[in-house]
Amino acid sequence: MFYDYDLFVIGAGSGGVRASRIAAGLGAKVAVAEDLFLGGTCVNVGCVPKKLLVYGSHFSEEFEAAAGFGWTIGSSSFHWPTLRDNKTKEIERLNGVYQNLLESAGVDIINGRATIIDPHTIAVGDRQFTAERILVAVGGWPAIPDIPGREHIISSNEVFYLEEFPKRVAVVGGGYIAVEFAGIFQGLGSDTHLLYRGDLFLRGFDRDVREFTASEMIKKGVNLHFNRSVSAIEKQVDGSLLVRLTDGSTLEVDTIMYATGRKPKIEHLGLENTAVKLTHKGSIQVNDNFQTAEPSIYAVGDVIDRMQLTPVALAEGMALAQHLYSDTVDYKVDYGFVATAVFCQPNIGTVGYSEERAKEKFDTVAVYKSNFKPMKHTLSDLDERTFVKLLVDQNTDRVIGCHMVGADAGEIIQGLAIAIKAGATKADFDSTIGIHSTVAEEFVTMREPAYIL
Ligand code: FAD
Ligand code: NDP
Repeated sequence: MFYDYDLFVIGAGSGGVRASRIAAGLGAKVAVAEDLFLGGTCVNVGCVPKKLLVYGSHFSEEFEAAAGFGWTIGSSSFHWPTLRDNKTKEIERLNGVYQNLLESAGVDIINGRATIIDPHTIAVGDRQFTAERILVAVGGWPAIPDIPGREHIISSNEVFYLEEFPKRVAVVGGGYIAVEFAGIFQGLGSDTHLLYRGDLFLRGFDRDVREFTASEMIKKGVNLHFNRSVSAIEKQVDGSLLVRLTDGSTLEVDTIMYATGRKPKIEHLGLENTAVKLTHKGSIQVNDNFQTAEPSIYAVGDVIDRMQLTPVALAEGMALAQHLYSDTVDYKVDYGFVATAVFCQPNIGTVGYSEERAKEKFDTVAVYKSNFKPMKHTLSDLDERTFVKLLVDQNTDRVIGCHMVGADAGEIIQGLAIAIKAGATKADFDSTIGIHSTVAEEFVTMREPAYIL
């Protein structure tokens, strides 16, 4: 059977681009279809523009902190269109970089929305293509509950392009996006409310980390409302939004953003024309080699919902391309000890087990932790503290969890993640001489456990 392509990739996001480039580099004839922008969520409405806004949002505190170091800063003000448009220029530059990367790898880029017609045929607009294999790398899309006033809700997608920056904002949700955007809004000057349905946000993270982050955010002025849900949203005559909460109280804001999770973007994809099966959560079910129940169709990235992180999608795309087209390398994705950061203020960086998970999994765990004022803030007059925590399996002395809430926690934990993935023991940490004076040296100087689990 002759096909137009060896591999037809649907979606030029993190996973799709990586799989396309590696497969083409290994000699496969590859096409990738993209109906929005090259680079996918991460480049256009995710990691990259979000991090640029996070950088922007830190300046207000830096100006405040400068006074204690002798600086007199004139009156400062924030101009949203400058940040928004500079960010957009950078994203457009990256779109071009992605186009070059794909073209120079020999991948055909097909603009438009792809639909699967049968296990070897894809339609994009009025064109049809055949392929020996199809890779579904379509990512996800914000999932927003249907409540009265739903039409007034925006998601993180729209925040990046707001005409006007809100003076008052409500962020609904308690995951990565809600916590990060609450920090962005607050840092850029909005009166910010975060509404979460449970008793403490960031479910799944270490409890100490969650509590410490909440207390730091409150100090910075974010209004945290836990055990609160929205029942309705009404637009008022002056254009503001009245948010009705299930406890009977109300909030008045200019913008309401929902960050209540993301669902796989598989509507109208044509999966019903195949034997592809979904999990109970609605993501695409795949085996260890990312193959779906339809043998010619594969899936990677957010659409399989193993871990919705760019480096994971990249690793999956790479592993799949090598599995299919390399005779020499068969790289497997190891989902153990994947480090992650939440770019709230201050940042969270984490790798390995939370205390709660470690307690379930290991016999005896030693918990080391420290909560201190970083040296910078002895003069800054800001009341920001730093929290670090290590969990050690007492049977093996292996460090099985490492958590930090503090400036640049993501940068610090990235390095520690290598040691922890390599199996570092507490004795290895103890024998490592610290770098003075850093915040990170605390990780190699904690000698006495706070308690044993
Ligand atoms: P995507 O990057 O979403 O790419 C899918 C692509 O497929 C999209 O371009 C889409 O337009 C296209 N597509 C969909 N359907 C079709 C179709 N039928 N035809 C043609 N094209 C189609 N992760 C991190 O690791 N660090 C972070 O700091 C981080 N920050 C984030 C911040 C936000 C606000 C969000 C929303 C996500 C963030 N993430 C972050 C998660 C990260 O962006 C995703 O895990 C990653 O982009 C997933 O890659 P993917 O290839 O699976 O999908
Ligand atoms: P998450 O799944 O992380 O969080 C969703 C939040 O919304 C949870 O707090 C959840 O509550 C709450 N929620 C879900 N449904 C409802 C509902 N119907 N009403 C009210 N609250 C609800 O999703 P996000 O949207 O924050 O982010 C999606 C993913 O993107 C993340 O999981 C992460 O993998 C990735 N991401 C990564 C980033 C990074 O690496 N820095 C940054 C941003 C995103 P509950 O806990 O009670 O279920």
